[in-house]
Amino acid sequence: MSNKFVYVFGPSKTEGAADMKDRLGGKGANLAEMCRLGISVPPGLTISAEVCTVYTEQGADAVRKLIESEVLQGVAFVEKEMGKKFGDAADPLLVSVRSGSRASMPGMMDTILNLGLNDEAVVGLTNKSGNERFAWDSYRRFIQMYGDVVMGLKPESKEDHDPFEVIIDEIKEKKGVELDTQLEVADLKHMVSEFKALIRNRLGREFPNNPWDQLWGAIMAVFQSWDNDRAKLYRKMNDIPDSWGTAVNVQSMVFGNLGDHSGTGVAFTRDAASGEDIFNGEFLVNAQGEDVVAGIRTPQQITLEGSRRWAQLAQVSEEDRRSKFPSLEELMPEIYQQLLKTETALENHYKDMQDIEFTIQEGKLWMLQTRSAKRTGAAMVRAAMEMLQQGLIDEKTALLRVTPDRLNELLHPVFDRQAVKSARSIAHGLPASPGAATGQIVFFADEAEEWVAKGKTVILVRQETSPEDLRGMAVAKGILTARGGMTSHAAVVARGMGKCCVSGAGSVRVDPKARTMTVGGKVYKEGDWVSLDGSTGQVYEGQVPTKDADLSGDFGKLMELAERYKRLAVRANADTPEDARVARNFGAVGIGLCRTEHMFFEGDRIKSVREMILAQDEAGRRKALAKLLPMQRGDFEGIFKAMDGLPVTIRLLDPPLHEFLPHDETNQREMAKEMGLSYEEIKNRVDDLHEANPMMGHRGCRLGITYPEITEMQARAIIEAALNCKAQGINPKVEIMIPLVGTVREFNAQAKVIRSTAEAVFAERKATIDFMVGTMIETPRGALVADSIGKQAEFFSFGTNDLTQMTLGFSRDDIGKFLPVYLKDGMYEQDPFQSIDQKGVGQLVQMAAQKGRSVRANIKLGVCGEHGGDPASIDFFHRVGLDYVSCSPFRVPIARLAAAQAAISNK
Ligand code: PEP
Ligand code: MG
Repeated sequence: MSNKFVYVFGPSKTEGAADMKDRLGGKGANLAEMCRLGISVPPGLTISAEVCTVYTEQGADAVRKLIESEVLQGVAFVEKEMGKKFGDAADPLLVSVRSGSRASMPGMMDTILNLGLNDEAVVGLTNKSGNERFAWDSYRRFIQMYGDVVMGLKPESKEDHDPFEVIIDEIKEKKGVELDTQLEVADLKHMVSEFKALIRNRLGREFPNNPWDQLWGAIMAVFQSWDNDRAKLYRKMNDIPDSWGTAVNVQSMVFGNLGDHSGTGVAFTRDAASGEDIFNGEFLVNAQGEDVVAGIRTPQQITLEGSRRWAQLAQVSEEDRRSKFPSLEELMPEIYQQLLKTETALENHYKDMQDIEFTIQEGKLWMLQTRSAKRTGAAMVRAAMEMLQQGLIDEKTALLRVTPDRLNELLHPVFDRQAVKSARSIAHGLPASPGAATGQIVFFADEAEEWVAKGKTVILVRQETSPEDLRGMAVAKGILTARGGMTSHAAVVARGMGKCCVSGAGSVRVDPKARTMTVGGKVYKEGDWVSLDGSTGQVYEGQVPTKDADLSGDFGKLMELAERYKRLAVRANADTPEDARVARNFGAVGIGLCRTEHMFFEGDRIKSVREMILAQDEAGRRKALAKLLPMQRGDFEGIFKAMDGLPVTIRLLDPPLHEFLPHDETNQREMAKEMGLSYEEIKNRVDDLHEANPMMGHRGCRLGITYPEITEMQARAIIEAALNCKAQGINPKVEIMIPLVGTVREFNAQAKVIRSTAEAVFAERKATIDFMVGTMIETPRGALVADSIGKQAEFFSFGTNDLTQMTLGFSRDDIGKFLPVYLKDGMYEQDPFQSIDQKGVGQLVQMAAQKGRSVRANIKLGVCGEHGGDPASIDFFHRVGLDYVSCSPFRVPIARLAAAQAAISNK
């Protein structure tokens, strides 16, 4: 800790600078920087964020002892700059006291304005401003704010109204007026005495008349607000460490409510929604900053062009616009020119889009804040690419300016922004797969298909989806499930399809029998309209209009740039030719995981799959498998064609067999009829296949080891498809992958079946093709013995979903029950199924990669779990030195950008 805690800023001296955000917070550092640039900023002082920690650990007295003399000196400096005295009755210096931490936390902490007013100073302010109404209005606002924020006078219960507002309403009622502005000076004076009486009666303390007492109270209150509930929650949500603390800015007040030559506003150097390089913003004449935020009056536009655009949207005639809502450019042309010059200077200086706040006091412009502007994903891309083109930033900076996850907003349909504001949100689930969707509720996958065939748009609502729902999911506009996590079936499949999905919406009760879902006591029937936002997890009632994503040229340019910087290759997890095409369009350079079980549910093939499962012996199984062979071969041909020249990793069958059979009596009876068997036979077989813990049961390579003929059929389908494609001049690059391997013997047994099947096919066809046989590393044992497996396997693909599940001992499908509590209580910092647990599971990945390379220097190493599309995990995989990540097609661009950022950041 240094021994300087207070930094002043003003025209004659500035001690801080933009690069001191750690100590001065974003607001304080930028106020200082603006002063250094010669921009007019009301002078003030910033108390370092280090002091916040002293407050938290040792309390107010320790803080006062530590900084009292520096604060006194700081205030003396501001007094000199302004030519006024703090606490002076004739011409008082008034200040604002505001929070400001290293990371922007909008509205989370407290602010006090007009501090320094008291019974004497209000008279001085009246005389100096010549505006008694303004002076008393400022005084009553100050008491109200101070009483609430510093003295803690809050409503007695959450149902009660703000007690200050109750007094205001009573006075207005007595006078028979509706607006605050209709009150007279006498009313405001009366209000001040009522406010003070309220404080005295409720708190048993007097409102402090001494400005220094006011100031110390306010400083402590701002430190205290670092630990209020909403600030704590915001920090948790945005990964902001509690230890940072907030700085406190004490700044001389300027007033935008001193008449028609005064005003206040907010502006952006570019359009924060689209990224267009156009200065824009809003202001109010004769108003304080709070009035703009509160949205009580219709704000006016800053530029003439913006004003015309606004009038068109708001359907205001040009005549009305000019007379009632003129732009700042028209109303105060000189101020406008100064503002324009300032915004250009600020953007050029910070080399980023700025969000600025200003006040005009009787014809003089003051800047109150500048910060990097929050923006949409589309604006991020456009602004970054245009700033690069304009020579404002370099390529690396342009790449780092775009948050990879925000690219989502550009890839999927989105809700119309205006429409969503008025939509009614009825539930909230996990944002499992982004995009916006609106449709009529259906509760069954087959009915989804029927409805869509009739030209309807549907949302499939299920308790949780299973592979049987695949076709219904494919035709639905979106999927809503009451259960499940981010890696549950619905979530994984929906992301793969690029389909909007909200999963695990716990407040939704699905009753498939009654064909209803109940949310918050309201019943929604089949056919009712709902809308889902898969990017936020919100579920809305009714139809909210959507619009298609616009993949503008800037997006393409950004991707090209990313390509030049990244080292990790990006592949996609795709199970169909269509998914493969989408992935290739997004720039995937191969398929890292084709889950063959997803193909088993297509069309009528489920019947042959069931026949295979129900077969009594190997001969029966082979008969059924023979029917599946041509279907699988056809699928693989489609995928090889779509990925011509690029590697395709095909994984052998993984899920437990019972997933392919119906579990309720009706469907079992129906199946018995279809298969010419008795209901009991079917039921017995289903019971036979029941497992206590299917995720750790008869799945993965255990299936192929117990029934080698399944592996044989799949290997044959793959090799035959590759030969057929080769004959057509296509270049298939085949990688066959064995799942869930824990010992090299499992690998060897399956590899032997694959290789001997391939040899048989080559002999029959008198043609050959190169192929590789590799393994998933997704059991902890597989990772531990990766050196022995690596001697045999030609590639490793880390299945980090299972590896996480088994290393942590968390069932992927049941985490909804405890993970939210775990995250809230900080047992894990992030959902380990979304972002790789670097300390635990990450160690296994790193170790297995090293072991693999130690025995096979050129072994190909990739990741195909959901983490392959997560930017923080991608950074980790880059550092571990893997060759590629594989993710769902719609995450490919995100992964490409994240890979470029990893390469730049880890240089
Ligand atoms: C994995 O376990 O990470 C994986 C990709 O396989 P699946 O999700 O199909 O189990
Ligand atoms: Mg797996």
